[in-house]
Amino acid sequence: MIAGIDLGTTNSLIGVYDSGFPTLLADADGNRLTPSVVHYVANGSVLVGREARRMEALHPESTLSSVKRLIGRRLGDEGTEGMTGAMGSAVTLPIRGRNLTPEEVSSEILKRLKAIAETRLGHPLSQAVITVPAYFNDAQRAATKRAGELAGFTVERILAEPTAAALAYGLDKLRDRSKVAVYDLGGGTFDLSILQLDNGVFEVLATHGDTRLGGDDLDEAIATLIARKAKLGDLTPESSIRLTESAREAKERLSTEESLTIRLPFLSGSSSLEILLTRGEIEEVCDPIIRRTRAHCLRSLEDAGLKAEDLDQVILVGGSTRMPLVQKSVAEIFAKEPNLSQHPDEAVALGAVLQAAILEGNLQHVTLLDVTPLSLGIETFGGLMNVIIPRNTTIPTKAGEMFTNAVAGQSGMTITILQGEREMSADNWKLGSFDILFPPAPKGAARVGVQFSLDANGILEVLARDTTAGTEKIVEIKSAVEVSDEAVEAMLAGSLEHAFEDMDARIFTEARLKAEEMLPAVEAALEQLAGDLPPTEVTDIRAKSAEVTSALEANETTRLKQALSALDQATQTLATKLIERAMKG
Ligand code: AMP
Repeated sequence: MIAGIDLGTTNSLIGVYDSGFPTLLADADGNRLTPSVVHYVANGSVLVGREARRMEALHPESTLSSVKRLIGRRLGDEGTEGMTGAMGSAVTLPIRGRNLTPEEVSSEILKRLKAIAETRLGHPLSQAVITVPAYFNDAQRAATKRAGELAGFTVERILAEPTAAALAYGLDKLRDRSKVAVYDLGGGTFDLSILQLDNGVFEVLATHGDTRLGGDDLDEAIATLIARKAKLGDLTPESSIRLTESAREAKERLSTEESLTIRLPFLSGSSSLEILLTRGEIEEVCDPIIRRTRAHCLRSLEDAGLKAEDLDQVILVGGSTRMPLVQKSVAEIFAKEPNLSQHPDEAVALGAVLQAAILEGNLQHVTLLDVTPLSLGIETFGGLMNVIIPRNTTIPTKAGEMFTNAVAGQSGMTITILQGEREMSADNWKLGSFDILFPPAPKGAARVGVQFSLDANGILEVLARDTTAGTEKIVEIKSAVEVSDEAVEAMLAGSLEHAFEDMDARIFTEARLKAEEMLPAVEAALEQLAGDLPPTEVTDIRAKSAEVTSALEANETTRLKQALSALDQATQTLATKLIERAMKG
């Protein structure tokens, strides 16, 4: 079993693919999100997650958060401003007299995730897929891998976060060359990536972002708003933290509620705070911050050489995209409603789990379970549909049939490939056609095998082989399974609506073909053997033949079938005599 891990700036998650389902694992308190915060206790022990976050306010000097911003960085790189040490040397973090590397700190978060998963699963877990931002360079990716190894994992794959998110949204099922924008606004960072699906694999075409833009900025703006509304004076560091925490809570609740009351007893000295806050008010102060994402979106589109309308989908990642204002802005920037089908704060982790499942070999079945939405077949004599692969067959699949010539002297066959549920080929869709030639043969002597192979990607290969001469032809049809749901529904509805007429048409055609074969044969036999039969029998046969001709001309199915069966009965003796003569000969 391979774990999928989203090692985030603010929060981290772990999951596994278990019994056919991707599952994110929760700690003993039922939380799936583990804050990416590490607190170093004086006695040498380490606290991670919510417990560490609680210590942050009291002991900021021995608590580390957002280390992801520093992983794989050197002094002088972005994010290392204000840190001391020689330029170009690896970043270290002084904590309780030790100098820790960011990967050592990150490994504490990973150890905690590993412990959560092992407790839930009841067995050890030693392999992982870990996600990183698309813009991470080799050093940052290598450092993340090292963090995983320090936590006791073999890191099977480092996966780009937008790719993971796209997997979670099921976008690997889009048609090839589809383009997707991944808008990721988390607690502290913003990223916009443009991906293109290429043979089932996502390629990152462009990525832009701001490593200092996220929900934390919104919390600050809302805290300032609350302080202004409540006319608060200077606050102690502790009160200031309480205010920011309540601002975050209000922000999150106002994503679903229209207004709420904030109460903070004894916030500053003996005075308490109680004010009403509306969604409209917070949107006003958050808007300028969210607006800053726009430029990155436009730059990414430009870098990818695309226009907003070229995008097939826009997906949301990161807790902050739960805000209605963010969703509205995204829709405006891309002139397209974003896809809201997944939990934005779990999408990356879920994608990591799916990637893990692919590596485990557990997900191949997904494609194998695809089915043909409509039947595939070829047109046979009389314009009938001959089904070779029935609808709802699991793919990949292979099926075939042997055909022969219906007319003497025929020297080829046209193989017309059809898709649909109707009895007559003209009512189905023609996917293609080709000719296979063979030496002129008496009726029924040619042997042409036709084989349909439909692969897991829905590509149909039709092979026709004249088994006598060995000549063969192959054609490939790309779009056999790529049929829109509406078209499939219309075809199925049509086949139900016309079921009786279709069946009637098929029975009539089959009867017609039999009549056309039988009438000249009876005529020829009578010419040879009329003298050997009693005249009444000859008259009877001629009358029955005339009835077949007349039923055929009248297009009457039931009458034609009855007339054929009567002619069959009446010619029994004639047929026996014909055989006897042939035997003597
Ligand atoms: P992430 O980095 O994806 O875990 O996102 C964390 C950020 O999402 C924090 O700033 C949270 O306050 C924010 N967030 C989580 N839930 C919501 C919500 N319902 N509405 C607005 N922001 C949210």
